[in-house]
Formats: sequence, C-alpha cells, structure tokens
Amino acid sequence: MKILVCISHVPDTTSKIKFTNNQTEFDSNGITFVINPYDEFGLTRAMKIKESTGATITVVNVGAASTEPTLRKALAIGADEAVRIDADPKDGSTVARLIADYAKEQNFDLIVTGRESIDYNGGIVPGMLATYLDIPFVNACIGFELEGTNAKAVREIDGGKETLEGTLPMLIAGQKGLVEEKELRIPAMRGIMMARKKPLSVIAAGDTRVSTTVVSFELPETKAACTMIDAGNVEQLVELLHTEAKVI
Ligand SMILES: Cc1cc2nc3c(=O)[nH]c(=O)nc-3n(C[C@H](O)[C@H](O)[C@H](O)COP(=O)(O)OP(=O)(O)OC[C@H]3O[C@@H](n4cnc5c(N)ncnc54)[C@H](O)[C@@H]3O)c2cc1C
Repeated sequence: MKILVCISHVPDTTSKIKFTNNQTEFDSNGITFVINPYDEFGLTRAMKIKESTGATITVVNVGAASTEPTLRKALAIGADEAVRIDADPKDGSTVARLIADYAKEQNFDLIVTGRESIDYNGGIVPGMLATYLDIPFVNACIGFELEGTNAKAVREIDGGKETLEGTLPMLIAGQKGLVEEKELRIPAMRGIMMARKKPLSVIAAGDTRVSTTVVSFELPETKAACTMIDAGNVEQLVELLHTEAKVI
C-alpha cells in the first residue's frame, strides 16, 4: 500500500505577520516555518496505517528549496521518502495540478492532505487534487479506518458527525480528531539521524499557470490597549463604559 501525504510549509502560528511590496507579498524575513498543523494530524494517521499494514509513506511539497527542512522533519517523524516539486507556488490550483501530475504516475492508494493550509487558508488543494485524479474525496476528516481496501471516514458536520464508506484509492483532508493532539509525533534524535539518509528527490514543475493573482493583503485593525480598573471601583467602570466604550 502506498500513501502520499501532502505537506504545506507554513509560518509558525506565533509568527508576527507583515506584508511588503505595497501589501502584495508576505514578508518571510525572520519567520520560522513548520509543517502545517492539519498535515501533522494526517501524517500521524498515515504513520499508524504504516505501522499496522507495512504501507510506505511519501511526503510531497510544492515549493522552493527553503521548504526542504520541513520535508526532512516529516521524514524524521517517519515518512519513507520525500519529493519536492520545484516551484514557487502562489495559487492553490497550481499546487493541486502539480501534485496531480506527479501522483498520476505513482498509483497511490491513499492521499492525505490537511483541511486547509494555515497560511493562505485557501482550502483549494484537496478538492481540486481529488478532481484531477478522479478519486473519492472526504473533507474535514476526524476519523479514518481501513479494512483491506475498504475505507470508513468520519467527518465533522454542524453539531454532529457523518460516517462515509468507500474504496481505495481515496483522498482525505484531515484535521484535529484524525488523531488526538497528544498522539502527534515529535521527531526523536534517532528519527532525525535516519531522516538525513532517506531520499528527498526534487522534480521539475510542469505547468505553473496561476488562476488568480493577489491584489493586496490587509491586516486586522489593532485592538485598543486594555484599561485596568480596580475591582472595587464601580464608579470608574460605569464612567468609562459610558464615555469611552459608549455601550451604556
Ligand atoms: C500570495 C501567495 C504567496 C505564496 N508564497 C509562497 C512562498 O513564498 N513559498 C511557498 O512555499 N508557498 C507559497 N505560497 C503557497 C501556499 O503556501 C500554498 O501552498 C498554496 O497557496 C496552497 O493553496 P491553499 O491555501 O488553497 O492550500 P489549502 O488547500 O488550504 O491546503 C490544504 C492542504 O493542501 C496541501 N497543500 C497546500 N499547499 C501545498 C504545497 N505547497 N505543497 C504540498 N501540499 C500542499 C496540504 O496538505 C494542506 O494542508 C503562496 C501562496 C499565495 C497565495
């Protein structure tokens, strides 16, 4: 069984986000990049399948050479090989097309992505990738079990859960719940050493056309500073709610 886990390389969630070039580009200076958190849930689920079935795991990223440390981290967690499709993607549809071009040749049984990438939050790649490959797709997956080639996937829906079944090959887009947070794998020293010897191949990107381009980014307005009031000072609280917050 062959599993492909798509890995998005995203800014650490604690990063201070800034834009440059007239608000049209993300300023990556000084930013630490990590595996997209939703992809960590997917990779850990794939690892559990590997442990019970002997499956092989390939991780793929569409990105420049700067994404390789993120792929090496996925190898240290336990993936068997990594592939970087050499491109500078600015559009989810390009990413989906490039991964599809690669995956078509490889006959993966299961493809795992995250529900969305936490940088640009496009949520475009999984659905488009499944469409390009013409395979079943389950989004927002919070549970996944396999019995041979029969798959059972659980999705989160408003106020409840939905359970679906289908046959491999299939694409699932995972999120928290696919495995528990406490089960996420942290690379151990042995894994880090082994990852150095695992194959990381770079393949040229084919069709890098984009379907949309960014006009500008905008940050949310900064919140006003907090005013601390002594717990017993009700008079001042009422005065400020009246004159500053203007809510009474
Ligand atoms: C304006 C702009 C600038 C960008 N600049 C850069 C950059 O400098 N460097 C860079 O590496 N990327 C860059 N990107 C690409 C970005 O990180 C995403 O890869 C791309 O936008 C994916 O689209 P999405 O937000 O719809 O992904 P989503 O559909 O939200 O992602 C869902 C899942 O798809 C998979 N996925 C998404 N992107 C990738 C990927 N690239 N490779 C493998 N799997 C993936 C992951 O499993 C992810 O969890 C840029 C994107 C935009 C819009």
